Amino acid sequence: MKNKLLFLPVLLLLLAPAGLRAQAGSLIPVKIYISSHDDVYKFKGLGVGVEELRNGYIEARVFEAKYKELQALGWKVEKVMPVPGDEKIVTAYHNYSWLTAKLDSVHAGYPLITRKISIGQTVEGREMWAFLVTDHPDSAENEAEIRFAATIHGNEPVGTELCIAMIDSLTQAYGSVPEIADLVNNREIWFLPLYNPDGNALGNVNNARYNAFGIDLNRNFPVPDGSAGDDGTYDIEPENQNFIGWTSANHFVLGCMYHGGALVANYHWDYSDSLSNDLPDHHLIREVSLGYARLNNPMYNETSDYNYDGQSDSGVVFGYYWYPVLGSLQDWSYHTSAAIDLTLEIGYSKWPNASNLPNYWSDNRQSMLFLIRQAGLGIQGLVTDSATGLPLDFARVEVAGIDKPVYTDSIGDYHRMLLSGNYDLTFSKAGYFPKTVTGVRVNYDSLTSLDVALARDLGVAGGEPSELIWQKDRLLNNVPNPFRVQTAIDYQVLSPGMVSLRIYNAAGQLVKTLDEGNQIPGTHSIKWDGRDDSGHAVSNGVYVYRLQAGGVKQTGKMIVLR
Ligand SMILES: [Zn+2]
Repeated sequence: MKNKLLFLPVLLLLLAPAGLRAQAGSLIPVKIYISSHDDVYKFKGLGVGVEELRNGYIEARVFEAKYKELQALGWKVEKVMPVPGDEKIVTAYHNYSWLTAKLDSVHAGYPLITRKISIGQTVEGREMWAFLVTDHPDSAENEAEIRFAATIHGNEPVGTELCIAMIDSLTQAYGSVPEIADLVNNREIWFLPLYNPDGNALGNVNNARYNAFGIDLNRNFPVPDGSAGDDGTYDIEPENQNFIGWTSANHFVLGCMYHGGALVANYHWDYSDSLSNDLPDHHLIREVSLGYARLNNPMYNETSDYNYDGQSDSGVVFGYYWYPVLGSLQDWSYHTSAAIDLTLEIGYSKWPNASNLPNYWSDNRQSMLFLIRQAGLGIQGLVTDSATGLPLDFARVEVAGIDKPVYTDSIGDYHRMLLSGNYDLTFSKAGYFPKTVTGVRVNYDSLTSLDVALARDLGVAGGEPSELIWQKDRLLNNVPNPFRVQTAIDYQVLSPGMVSLRIYNAAGQLVKTLDEGNQIPGTHSIKWDGRDDSGHAVSNGVYVYRLQAGGVKQTGKMIVLR
């Protein structure tokens, strides 16, 4: 949990009549099919709250009696059935060495659909284990990557058990449950079950929250606005450096980190109250958070504690409105890698008695499956070189109106969740002509595939089509190019450090210093409005931009054409 005093609400919750909560918990999620849009106005009179309008149906939650009443009235109503599978019973907490042995044993049992790696070592030299469940775990495929992580606060270990239980559930049901096999075959499902093993090794004490240097790892990430985290430093702890390096090499679509001490799905931003302006995917992010909460009855029914200024309901909350945090993992994740990353607070007790673990598992299992499913929906495809057919890594995929590009992975695949709608997508990469595809229909709850081939632009410098793995700081491209009003120059840095990005005219004179100073790791998109350092619009022509970072100098060319 975010380290905050919530004694009063917790007390009130404990005093809440048990019957009220039990009754609320018996609501059944249903789909009610509609024949025309006008039907949505009928539900108010039927006493049914419309939670979501989908393609041809609404989502709602009703009691059994209402479900039968709707059927009797002739509505086609379906209960949203849980995905079947092994209902695993979890009864004890895994410490670091037990977790290590457990992951080894699952891999030994299911070598064809699992892989265990270390993303690096902690301060005290423990490995940070990451565990992958997918078909063909040793090769990259055109599949969306999702990541579950837990116990960044060492004294909040329930999420570790959820990760282990889901690993067991997926592997054991793979051969017999088609829904599970479909997810395993078409997603790359990563788990980072024990983020802070050093803290966790101290047991159920307050200090276990921190890493071995006494730092709160969830206050130590680079803040999107470049300021220092709540820990007051720009030094990134070894655990977070490992995570940043690993995440930079895997384009996660969706992730979450489990916490304890509260009961709410907390979403970006934590650092800023700028919601719609500065959080391009705000509606989508809220929708994904709601999706998790809706399938977790205790979370969905919990509203009282977080309902500040009407900014929270149905078990979800916009982070900053709950309380501001600088340096959280979720903010870093979305800002630099475009991964939607939720902070999931799954219970009021940080370290509940192990006998309660089966309840946590049953409260969260369907929600976890929801995240896995959702990560692979929206739009995906391959970006290739039109002449060679080779995949293009780190090609930029931008959705018009949503200022948050995603990039292709090592085999040229991209994945992006979107709310239902028609979108214009622009694909680009340095050294290639950009291509825009207009009017692409994308649905939140299904998958659109769109492959794109880009043609080499031999007149523009900078393409590296054969380089498949990003290992150093680099300049990507600028879009659009040529440009009239504004262009965005993208670059990536792997570790924190000094960066400068400058623009020169064809005569080699400095025109504009766009970015200079300490930069945080990740992908950055710097906009240039075609004005020089004194604010005057530059004349038409060719300009060179130069990135200097980590001892590497790279240049690209662009054209101003008004
Ligand atoms: Zn926490």
